[in-house]
Amino acid sequence: MISTRPTKVQDYQAKDYKSDLKPIWCPGCGDFGVVQAIYRALSAIGRPPHEIAFVSGIGCSSRIPGYTTAYGFNSVHGRALPIAQGIKIANPELLVLVAGGDGDGFSIGGGHVPHAIRRNLDLTYIVMDNQIYGLTKGQLSPTSPKGLETVTSWYGSRENPINPLLYVLSSGAPFVAQGTPADMAGLAEMIEEAIRYPGFAFVNVQSPCVTYGEESGQLKAHKKKMQALADLGHDSTDMLAAMGRAQTYGQDLFTGVFYRNPTPQSTYEDNVRELHERFEAGKHPRENILDLFIQR
Ligand code: SF4
Repeated sequence: MISTRPTKVQDYQAKDYKSDLKPIWCPGCGDFGVVQAIYRALSAIGRPPHEIAFVSGIGCSSRIPGYTTAYGFNSVHGRALPIAQGIKIANPELLVLVAGGDGDGFSIGGGHVPHAIRRNLDLTYIVMDNQIYGLTKGQLSPTSPKGLETVTSWYGSRENPINPLLYVLSSGAPFVAQGTPADMAGLAEMIEEAIRYPGFAFVNVQSPCVTYGEESGQLKAHKKKMQALADLGHDSTDMLAAMGRAQTYGQDLFTGVFYRNPTPQSTYEDNVRELHERFEAGKHPRENILDLFIQR
């Protein structure tokens, strides 16, 4: 497998990834913690900001690329992954981060997630999961718990929530983790690990919405509830164990790496590069390309 991973870590500080733009999230929003964790993770990786592309969809959390010094693209609702994949294929040397909310990723953008996973581009997808649509003032999102009363569900939601952890695990994601800004150090380490993983990496961040979210989803509740998978003896190379832990999404708050495929497969961009090399080596010269489609 051809790796595009950085080997040389340069001396960048967390502040070098912080833009001059002042976040306009509500005071206390969990996304403040997530962006801080991303600054720390990027500084640990040490890639210069101009070698990083940060793509998001639409929603409160999707403002996040603007608060970094990376190249940012606050794109179209639910379409961050297709755009990020295009960027990565066009320039595999870039470190590509993708971010968005639970509504962006698992409702309108839900169809893109399994396809990004099966292509296995080397991307890190960070979902700020607050179980609500915050930007549009508190409607049900795909991860809202059944029974939740919102402006669109006065009598309580009648729908079962999507389980984002099981969704990505069952689609074959090779790296799946969950964190919370209530454990900033743990979240930063997890994001760093996700970036370093050579393939599609998913980080579900329980990021509280202080304005429309439930009490049980706030940082204070997270601090009481969270349990580090590492302390529970969880084997992150065991897919079935990961699925077992993921099943209790919405009840338990497990943090850490649920699953890390110990034998990473080649990435889509590696495969594309290999194809290019084959063409360049003359196995399929450009002038004979039509021969591939003609039976002799
Ligand atoms: Fe954060 Fe919620 Fe405010 Fe949006 S509405 S900025 S998610 S606290």
